Amino acid sequence: MQRYFIKEPLQDRLVIDDANQVHHMKHVMRMKKTDKIIVCDFEGTCFHMEIEAVTQTGIELKKLQALPNAKKSYHVTLAQSLIRKDHFELVFQKATELGADTIIPIETERTIIKLKDKSLDQKQKRWETIIQEASEQSHRNKLCHLETIMPLKSLDFKYYDEVFVAYEQEKTVSFKKALEHVKKDANILIIIGPEGGFSEQEIAFLNKQGVTSVSLGPRILRSETAAMFALSAISLMLEMSD
Ligand code: SAH
Repeated sequence: MQRYFIKEPLQDRLVIDDANQVHHMKHVMRMKKTDKIIVCDFEGTCFHMEIEAVTQTGIELKKLQALPNAKKSYHVTLAQSLIRKDHFELVFQKATELGADTIIPIETERTIIKLKDKSLDQKQKRWETIIQEASEQSHRNKLCHLETIMPLKSLDFKYYDEVFVAYEQEKTVSFKKALEHVKKDANILIIIGPEGGFSEQEIAFLNKQGVTSVSLGPRILRSETAAMFALSAISLMLEMSD
């Protein structure tokens, strides 16, 4: 069933009037009165709703029953280094599909892309739209949360139970082995480098903070592939292990 996220709390009756969502419902899905959809708020509460009217500017809805809470057995944050625009946007979409709870864009020593403050606001909005659409498409109950961009060294590790950095020169610790020790409900942070990888100093800094370097296998993956691989591996090991 089609799913839409709205900012407001879910009242018994409400109107969806976001232009993109209205367009999608009217012209892509060709929805009409009595059709049913799922509406979620930004806190992860979802309800089945019925369309009462399709008007010029909005879709009027009536609340039906609540959806059961689909709780994941872990929480994962992806700290993704800034990479070329289209690859970066792909990461937002795919990471959302693959269950990332939070994404933190990070700047590193070898970050090539320089974002001007002026365009940052606009970029952040575009990234949020990509995440919202991917959350709807992949039937998540909760939106993936997007943090504002920060330097690698400003990441605060104390929020996490497990922190990993994907490092192609790590030869002894595989991501699989590392994930075998992760406990249920763990709060995980995985850090992915930019096109040029992390510098030795950055890895030394991270290791000193207690961050575990992990290998994602024998091949060198592009940054965006590494992010998707890491999130898939986490899902496989922690969600599909029973
Ligand atoms: N420029 C580097 C590769 C960077 S790959 C080189 O040529 O050696 C971009 C990022 O993807 C890396 O910083 C790392 O976080 C991740 N990555 C890619 N392949 C990996 C692997 N096999 N193991 C661990 N991390 C990997």
